[in-house]
Amino acid sequence: MSTQQSQTYQFQRKIDTYASADVVVLGGGPAGTAAAISAARLGKKVILLEKSGQLGGMGTLGNVSVFMPIGNVTGIYRELIAEVMTESLPKHHDESIAPQYSPFVLRHYLNEKMKKEQVQVIYHAEFIGTVKEDRSVKAVIVSTREGLKAFEGKQFIDCTGDARAALDAGVPYTSGREEDGMTQPMTLMFMMQNTGKPVIPLLPEGCYRYEEIADLPQGRRLYWEQNNDGTLLVNMTRVKGNGTNIQDVNYAETEALKQVFSVVNYLQRNGFETYALSHVANQVGVRETNQIQGLYTLTEQDVVRGTRFADVVAQTNYEIDIHSPDGQKTCDERKVDGYDIPYLCMVTAQLDNLLVAGRAISATHVAMSSMRVQATCFALGQAAGIAASIATDDSCSVRDISIEALHRTLSSQNVIFYKKATAH
Ligand SMILES: Cc1cc2nc3c(=O)[nH]c(=O)nc-3n(C[C@H](O)[C@H](O)[C@H](O)COP(=O)(O)OP(=O)(O)OC[C@H]3O[C@@H](n4cnc5c(N)ncnc54)[C@H](O)[C@@H]3O)c2cc1C
Repeated sequence: MSTQQSQTYQFQRKIDTYASADVVVLGGGPAGTAAAISAARLGKKVILLEKSGQLGGMGTLGNVSVFMPIGNVTGIYRELIAEVMTESLPKHHDESIAPQYSPFVLRHYLNEKMKKEQVQVIYHAEFIGTVKEDRSVKAVIVSTREGLKAFEGKQFIDCTGDARAALDAGVPYTSGREEDGMTQPMTLMFMMQNTGKPVIPLLPEGCYRYEEIADLPQGRRLYWEQNNDGTLLVNMTRVKGNGTNIQDVNYAETEALKQVFSVVNYLQRNGFETYALSHVANQVGVRETNQIQGLYTLTEQDVVRGTRFADVVAQTNYEIDIHSPDGQKTCDERKVDGYDIPYLCMVTAQLDNLLVAGRAISATHVAMSSMRVQATCFALGQAAGIAASIATDDSCSVRDISIEALHRTLSSQNVIFYKKATAH
């Protein structure tokens, strides 16, 4: 809702090109970091543009700090586990792990990894708009610490989580539940630390005093303490709204912080008497916003029935996991046996040189609730980076790349599928 009379402006500027690359990746979360690495490993010049000052997306910036199990620890995700949390590495790729990690260590690891992989990362670089020529994106306009700059590329991979570039370039999208457009709620993650001695419960002015579990924002206690170092990772706040709506996010950022202090106070009186608040995520965590309408849309039926696709790019058995979008204190959690995500979920009908990887791929609300977790986003990103490289080498549209070449290159980058792909 705007407070002013509706008015539109034309905004024209001459903007200098800052750099050009074979592959420009927008957003440095799980999908974006994997996309950048896989393309760079194929000899491509890669630029990764990240809005914040850190890589890892929700996994670091949003302090998610747990990898949910997907039953396939493979490719770049497996490499990350091997290099950062060796003790969690499963012997076989088709096992499930759910390690809790330090977001600070992962953040540092990703910075160093990008240097090793020769990916040029531009921090504090927020995508603003696309410059198109027919069916191709020629450049993206980015707000940087030096003002607006253009970045040219042969291929673009939109890993912003919100499909920002795809939407700007005219790709149709959906958002939230089919019936009312409501998205999963936002959560501000935080950590507490065991100090080993009683702490005085904290409750700043304006916060809530929760007495019962039913009073808590999610109506439940949800935390992890797996690392034996006194770190308690807490996922217990919940604010209704859409993470791409200005008013909803404004409300969520302040309301969720109130909830953080209130939950801390509750925990300090209920089992965590020696724990102090040690870290609050830099921004409220956003689970769901926009899904592109791609050449294939992953559905609830695909997830429930375990559909297999000839152009599979990621495999997961993570459950359907919907935090109630409408303010109820419930979760719709349903186990699934495993399914494929096809390449066409990342491809649009409108653009020849742009792919969308990560949580904003073409999927229904229910399907998205299962595919959105980090390990799956790493897998999608890795496949997108390879696909963009192939499209560059073969001078073709991302729609027309050889799936055989995509699978061969995924395999050469140590991606293993646990179920054989069959045509659907
Ligand atoms: C509260 C919460 C709890 C969760 N719990 C878990 C869990 O326990 N385990 C798990 O595996 N998953 C969990 N998830 C899901 C998971 O974290 C996300 O779905 C996943 O990180 C999505 O990856 P992504 O790369 O698609 O996008 P994101 O992680 O959202 O990363 C997008 C990146 O793009 C950047 N960006 C955005 N807009 C722009 C722009 N205009 N220009 C440049 N950069 C931009 C962002 O700063 C960010 O770095 C949780 C999510 C939330 C919100």
